[in-house]
Amino acid sequence: MKNEMLTYTYIRQGEFALQQKPTPVLEQDRDAIVRVTLSSICTSDLHIKHGSVPRAVPGITVGHEMVGIVEQVGSAVTTLRPGDRVAVNVETFCGHCFFCQHGWVNNCTDPNGGWALGCRIDGGQAEYVRVPYADQGLTKIPDSVTDLQALLVGDVLATGYWAAQISEIQPQDTVLILGAGPTGLCTLQCVRLRHPHCILVCDKDVERLAFVRRHYPDVIAVLPEELPSAVRQYSAHGGADVVLEVAGSPDTFHMAWETARPNGIVTVVALYDGPQMLPLPEMYGKNLTFKTGGVDGCHCQEALSLIAEGKLDTTPLITHQFPLAEIEQAYALFEARRDGVIKVAIQCS
Ligand SMILES: [Zn+2]
Ligand SMILES: [Zn+2]
Repeated sequence: MKNEMLTYTYIRQGEFALQQKPTPVLEQDRDAIVRVTLSSICTSDLHIKHGSVPRAVPGITVGHEMVGIVEQVGSAVTTLRPGDRVAVNVETFCGHCFFCQHGWVNNCTDPNGGWALGCRIDGGQAEYVRVPYADQGLTKIPDSVTDLQALLVGDVLATGYWAAQISEIQPQDTVLILGAGPTGLCTLQCVRLRHPHCILVCDKDVERLAFVRRHYPDVIAVLPEELPSAVRQYSAHGGADVVLEVAGSPDTFHMAWETARPNGIVTVVALYDGPQMLPLPEMYGKNLTFKTGGVDGCHCQEALSLIAEGKLDTTPLITHQFPLAEIEQAYALFEARRDGVIKVAIQCS
């Protein structure tokens, strides 16, 4: 390993920059050092850039969605060896505390528990990354699965998998997904695995709706203005049985509870820029159940198995690739949503 490496670093609000930094070293006996092969850019990275993640620490390397090859492991890591190809989990979790024992790893009580990589500790838009609790946060990639196929497993696909899992989807259900961005599309794939009676996807972007129709012809893709009549047409009981809100605007929050049928489930996956209004008098008598984000990302093994079996495939979402040295162009493209971009892969080493 070299002593220095290239990183993409959060300098201050509004500014990320390519920077040389020392290559990370093992600090704890459950750490691993991973050589990052591919990393991705997430909307949360943009939230850091724009200052809407108060816990993000200036100076850290950003990036929390990546795959790579284990380079070194600490003395307490017995499940992994140098040379293993791994998916890195967005969340850091100890595996032992009350929340981890229940599978609620997002609320791990460790000081670095939850989303730490690329937010509070150095992340993976870099040649190497140090992963704490490597025995929990790294998942071996099956030989038949490529790095590109595994790239989204630790973050957006984990989110979609978790969202579908907690939404109590039944075979007779009409399920509505609000938002056809990267997380919405991952949620859609995971909802399809549960075979509900009908799936509707709503987005205001016609290109994204066209993407849905092209790849998932069984899904009803509609614009927001078409949504009320589509919900009436495809629901047996006056509204969707399950609504997953993955878009994250005040309009979509309102749409989510409004389009759910009485006694339905509304799963809020989206991360909002501000508080949302829950107009309880208007909703009185609707008897809804709300479930709220963020992801408990501890099902990477299952997701990788489903990829190996051909049941999940996120590669169509990865529309562009750039080398790490050109990551600024990748951010500019991703942020401006130019050229039909959905997800970008960054070749890091
Ligand atoms: Zn993310
Ligand atoms: Zn824990």
